[in-house]
Amino acid sequence: MAAYPPVSGKPVFRFAPSPNGRLHLGHALSALTNEALARRFDGRLLLRIEDIDLGRCRPEFADAILADLDWLGIRFELPLRRQFEHFDDYIAALASLQARRLVYPCFCSRQEIRAAVVARETETGRPWPTDPDGAPLYPGSCKELDEAEASRRILAGEPHVLRLDMARAMALAGEDPGYEVFDPKGSRGRAPAQPARWGDVVLARKDVPTSYHLAVVVDDALQGVTHVVRGKDLEAATDIHVVLQRLLGLPTPLYHFHKLLIDEDGRKLAKSRSSESLAELRERGVSAAIIRQGLGFD
Ligand code: GLU
Repeated sequence: MAAYPPVSGKPVFRFAPSPNGRLHLGHALSALTNEALARRFDGRLLLRIEDIDLGRCRPEFADAILADLDWLGIRFELPLRRQFEHFDDYIAALASLQARRLVYPCFCSRQEIRAAVVARETETGRPWPTDPDGAPLYPGSCKELDEAEASRRILAGEPHVLRLDMARAMALAGEDPGYEVFDPKGSRGRAPAQPARWGDVVLARKDVPTSYHLAVVVDDALQGVTHVVRGKDLEAATDIHVVLQRLLGLPTPLYHFHKLLIDEDGRKLAKSRSSESLAELRERGVSAAIIRQGLGFD
């Protein structure tokens, strides 16, 4: 794994979009908040392209992100980091977790997980718990597999993910790893973390040797990020990141979660609902200055 930079010197901020669509105003808010805070705290501003999702990410979207950010007038320090080019770093982190039996292979399909959840609900007469994103917690079927059986299936080329054994992880990381949050004025507070509510999360997908959670933690450390500024929609997931930082011996940055922009129906802007992109706004004649002002930046 590449060497981690020293945690000293200037504060380091980053904007980390995924190139699975065009940027919209929600992304502009996130990028501009990072830019404003980096300036306020005399920090550095980095860019990371989170392109591990081979099915949804496209190089042309990554190029468009760079063009949109340039148009908004935000300058990032080079080089930018593209996750797709750093699978070795995630493999090294996984190996370190594997060596301590903190991850296990899971061969379940989505349907098998759904069926196991229904079976548990019928058995107990109670709804099966869901994670903060509303997905059912992994019911644990593959956790019971013995090692020889799991190895045989891996060698036979059966597709599988790697899951974090959350109970074991928490026993090592401490029940409430907690983390520090900061606000734009610079004051700090402590936030509790409740990683157990996520269950045995996926740390390596079937097609790539990482997941969002693992990559974000490894990259923030490798890029020397000291201040993570992201939307409130990622606040709950930070619990997982803090546990992973503990397990991998990585520093925990300070966090700030900014508000989300919502559409007329009260839902957060999302590429998946084709919220109007910055490119479309630009084509309609909206200037970057108007967007900056409209979002509260000058
Ligand atoms: N790539 C994530 C997204 O576009 C953000 C990652 C992060 O801030 O940790 O939603």
